[in-house]
This record gives sequence, C-alpha cells and structure tokens, in this order.
Amino acid sequence: MPQSADQQPMRVHPYWILFLGGLTLALLFAGLYDKSSSEVCVGGGYELCPDLLNATVKIKKHDLPSMVAQICGDARSNACAIRRARWQRVVCEVHVLTPEVPGVLIHELNHCRGWEHQGDSQEAYGRPWVPNWRLVHARGHID
Ligand SMILES: [Zn+2]
Repeated sequence: MPQSADQQPMRVHPYWILFLGGLTLALLFAGLYDKSSSEVCVGGGYELCPDLLNATVKIKKHDLPSMVAQICGDARSNACAIRRARWQRVVCEVHVLTPEVPGVLIHELNHCRGWEHQGDSQEAYGRPWVPNWRLVHARGHID
C-alpha cells in the first residue's frame, strides 16, 4: 500500500472560512465601535467621573501597610479597588491605608465607577481616564 494514502491534506470546508472571517469582522467592528463611542474622563485623577457601573461600593480602611499590600497584591500600593461583576451587578471593594493620602478615595472610586488610568504613574493618573469596557459590558444596561 502506498504510504501517501493516509497522508491526505486536511481539508477545511469553505463555509468555516466564511464563518470565521465573518466572526473576525464582527469582532473588529465591535472593537471599532467601542473606540468611536468611547468617552474619556479628563479629570479622573482629582474629581469623580460619571458612574458607568452603578456598583455597590464598600470601603475598608486598614492601618497596616502589609495588609493593604497583601490584599492589593502590590507592595507599593496604598489603596486599590477590587471589582467583581456578575449577574449584572458590580461590587467594588475599596481598600485604603490610613491615614489616607488626599485624593486617593476619588481615585479608587473612579475605578469603582468603571474607569481606568492609562499607565501606572502619578503623571498617568493626571491624564484622561478611559472606560473599562469589559466591566461596562459585564454590568450591562444600567436602569
Ligand atoms: Zn488606579
């Protein structure tokens, strides 16, 4: 028996190519739509942004830096916002080290409201913030 008999090239049905191509285009346009409809929050570093998530916010204050570092997963953190989206609800837990650095709660509350800074430095915090579309979509329509 010739060896080439079981070495037939794998065939991909053309409909699969059309289907996957269409899916790719759909995702691409969904991404473009997100970008074109994106707003920015110019003053995210120092004032509250519009609430995109309507999250239930819980604020927990800690007086041990090691505690905040452990919860936030970053040794340099003096605060963080942990957001969980499920069943069209978002719960946002803010953990903050006391005494609070001025402005830190506004910063974390903006994370709770569905916004992100672009980069991780004081300078980046001062630039316009952008929506976290993954969370906004997970949250769904706010009634
Ligand atoms: Zn932040």
